[in-house]
Amino acid sequence: MAARPVAGVDCHGLLLRSGLVQVRYRYRVYPDAAQRQALARAFGCARVVFNDAVRLRDQAHERGEKLSDSEAQRRVITLAKRTPEREWLGEVASVVLVQACQDARRAYRNWFDSMAGKRKGRKAGHPQFKRKHGQQSVRLTRNGFALHGGRLYVAKVGDVTVKWSRPLPSVPSSVTVIREPDGRYYASFVVERDTEPLPPCDQETGIDVGLAHLAVTSDGLKIAAPRFLRKAERRLKKAQRALSRKSKGSANRARARHRVAVQHRKVRDARLDHAHKTALSLVRDSQAVYAEDIAVSGLARTRLAKSVHDAGWSQLLRLIQEKCERHGRYFAKVGRFEPTSQVCSACGARDGPKPLAVRKWTCRECGTVLDRDVNAARNILALGQRERLNASVGSVRPPSPVAAAVERGTRRSAA
Ligand SMILES: [Zn+2]
Repeated sequence: MAARPVAGVDCHGLLLRSGLVQVRYRYRVYPDAAQRQALARAFGCARVVFNDAVRLRDQAHERGEKLSDSEAQRRVITLAKRTPEREWLGEVASVVLVQACQDARRAYRNWFDSMAGKRKGRKAGHPQFKRKHGQQSVRLTRNGFALHGGRLYVAKVGDVTVKWSRPLPSVPSSVTVIREPDGRYYASFVVERDTEPLPPCDQETGIDVGLAHLAVTSDGLKIAAPRFLRKAERRLKKAQRALSRKSKGSANRARARHRVAVQHRKVRDARLDHAHKTALSLVRDSQAVYAEDIAVSGLARTRLAKSVHDAGWSQLLRLIQEKCERHGRYFAKVGRFEPTSQVCSACGARDGPKPLAVRKWTCRECGTVLDRDVNAARNILALGQRERLNASVGSVRPPSPVAAAVERGTRRSAA
């Protein structure tokens, strides 16, 4: 999941100031044939500008040359438009090109900061070049789009029909137009929305990734991936196998690829829906939620990573954080530097590593029977509460939910 975040699928919150959060609202849009063509041009140009900008920065970096942002933009847009190879860049709205250039800059900066250790969380890799296949998108700021008469005006594309599945809470500051591999189009708006505080409660919760579960809480609640999701995932795997058997370039292969894209969407939608419900029930019942920061747990780098990401753990965490911000709850990620399975959550005794096959054991010191996953979640809760307490009495390492939100807003595909 973290390896390829799907831009704009999940709405995610960013706490602006007390009482206001920044969130994404996503709607299906229906461009007509001419608009689809115009969008395809915009996607292509944005992709080329993004890739050119990354290549340019790579070259400058190799030569040890300092490249200012305005100079980078001048070279990959203004000067490029004057060359025969890139003159078609003039056919699309320049706001699209400028945003693509800025996206490349941000991806590059994330990579640099990550190498320099200035960036918290998951290590950002070298920006990936955008490809023709897969999801396509363009980002527009206020001078590139407008809303009128219930339609979305996109510069040099026209008025696109939107299916308003729910009202926008405020005037959006930007929009990303997305084409998914299954051929559907979406508009993802960034808007500000009031927070909606929930009645206070005195429960605090630690949550951990279970291997067999989506999440395990310190209360002993084990949340499994639901049956419908597992079924959808099986169908996806079947469609992928069918695709791999089709010969390249054939019409059969194109059909098979479309079927894979459709199954992908079904899995994604089902997972997102389930994650929203799970996150809301956790946040409703807890005044504070502490979760393991899987980026530092080492788990993400092992061969378990795939199953962990498949389980949608990062997505669930993002939604929990968003809902905490929206509903006035406390959220913090807890850095786990020691394997929590080695410490008894009841008495703190440390009795060494245990093979993964050991799911339950009895603490030698206090005699408590410990469930591996629940024990880990309880240790995370204790660690989170300790860090929060330290922060409130003036520690140097405050766990800041706001900082974490800003961090998350910079992920590569932030759409
Ligand atoms: Zn014990």
